[in-house]
Amino acid sequence: MTDQVDVVVIGAGHNGMAAAGYLAREGKKVLVVERMAKVGGMTSSGYMIPEAPNHLVTPCAVELLFARKSGIIEDFELAKYGLKTVDPDPTYAYLHPDGSSIALFYDYKRTAEDIARINRNDGKAYLEFMKTLNVMMDIGFPMMMAEPGRPDMKNLSKIIGSAVRNVRLKDELVALSKATADQVACERFEHPATIALLLGIAAGAGPVDDDGNAAAYMIFAVTHKYGTGKPIGSLQSFSDALARSIEASGATILLNAPVAEIIVDDGAAKGVRLEDGRVIPAKMVIATCDPRTAMRMTTPGGVDRALMQRIEHAPSNRSNAAPFLANIAMSGPLRLKKHQDLRHDDADLNKAVGLIGTSEEVRESFATARRGDIPDRHAMSLSRCRTATRRRHRRADRWPMSICLPWRWMRARAGRPRSRTRPCHRSSAIWANIMTGWTPKSGVSWKPRGNGKSG
Ligand SMILES: Cc1cc2nc3c(=O)[nH]c(=O)nc-3n(C[C@H](O)[C@H](O)[C@H](O)COP(=O)(O)OP(=O)(O)OC[C@H]3O[C@@H](n4cnc5c(N)ncnc54)[C@H](O)[C@@H]3O)c2cc1C
Repeated sequence: MTDQVDVVVIGAGHNGMAAAGYLAREGKKVLVVERMAKVGGMTSSGYMIPEAPNHLVTPCAVELLFARKSGIIEDFELAKYGLKTVDPDPTYAYLHPDGSSIALFYDYKRTAEDIARINRNDGKAYLEFMKTLNVMMDIGFPMMMAEPGRPDMKNLSKIIGSAVRNVRLKDELVALSKATADQVACERFEHPATIALLLGIAAGAGPVDDDGNAAAYMIFAVTHKYGTGKPIGSLQSFSDALARSIEASGATILLNAPVAEIIVDDGAAKGVRLEDGRVIPAKMVIATCDPRTAMRMTTPGGVDRALMQRIEHAPSNRSNAAPFLANIAMSGPLRLKKHQDLRHDDADLNKAVGLIGTSEEVRESFATARRGDIPDRHAMSLSRCRTATRRRHRRADRWPMSICLPWRWMRARAGRPRSRTRPCHRSSAIWANIMTGWTPKSGVSWKPRGNGKSG
């Protein structure tokens, strides 16, 4: 048994660390317990493949998006603790098969002009869309910043204030929060390229035909207002800066410390038991792993049976399909020659996240995934990670890239991928398909390094 703390936080992802940091600043004795050997969770990265020790892998998040608006970067003075970011502009670019492109600039008016070159009505529609998305952001962010179900007065007044001021947008806001991304894109825009730009972005958040997925379009508003910073040194440097900051505030982080049990007694959490048998008594336990994992760790019989069942039945993924991310090492930089040559301006598409795939291909990708098949042609987004690599690592690193394919066959309740074939065979099949299926049509020239395999 170790000394009692005020709060045990399970998980040193950025949410766990932020919670710990704020509590430590309030004078609480806080201990973060993390099962992995490093901090970061889904915002971690590193050299994870023993056979490819110089290949930087970013398994989940590649850019700071909503974190930019959350306030944690400023609150925890992450710049002081080593966080540096780069901000490619344009941030994203839709690459149409005919060589034309639409660039998503910080400046939404410039983006609208770029769209208007392809379709004048869509350019105007984009300006209107941005007005609605900005309101959605003004309402949505205070909701995210507040305690769900019990918003504090400051955030509640922001939510109500924005809603009242923009009551004329009510129907559109309801549609954005309930409709599919596909529906909203097709309702608002005419040209296939504009629709594909929208679907390409929404696909990163999940199936474009899922109800409510249209809310993913808030990414446009966030991108125009805050940009999508890529941390130099990749996402691990963001997590490391956060860890340094909260430790300076008095929080303690214990790595290699998987929790086996959340000790519940008399209807309240009283601490945790680690897998190695150590018990850490605490006045409060905050679990930042997924809710189902957290509930399964509670002392048997400690939590009301009905609540256990409610969480157990909460679907992690309702539609059997989810995005899939692959990291690859390239022998040289990805060149978008055809699309770059056809640009009318100085926008550097090679630094942006490239969205490849027509709207039909995005739809097909998810539909195919639901059947458990591999699509013939893939919609994907390509993110160059080299901009985010520390200079001293560059030679060894060469040209790391991450590819997000908007599909993967999922188990609806477990939230885990299913695979009919052995994973390595399946990955090889996917990889072979990407390389043969996309290179000529998209006008992208690339050459993976080695066998192109990665996490
Ligand atoms: C493929 C992918 C790409 C993404 N891309 C982006 C992006 O580009 N930009 C963006 O903003 N977001 C992105 N996201 C979302 C973002 O990464 C997550 O929303 C965010 O990292 C979640 O942080 P968290 O702290 O809540 O959880 P996590 O990061 O999952 O942290 C939970 C922590 O709990 C630990 N833990 C679990 N069980 C135990 C246990 N029993 N004992 C001790 N510790 C335990 C885990 O090891 C982990 O460190 C992406 C997500 C994925 C999957």
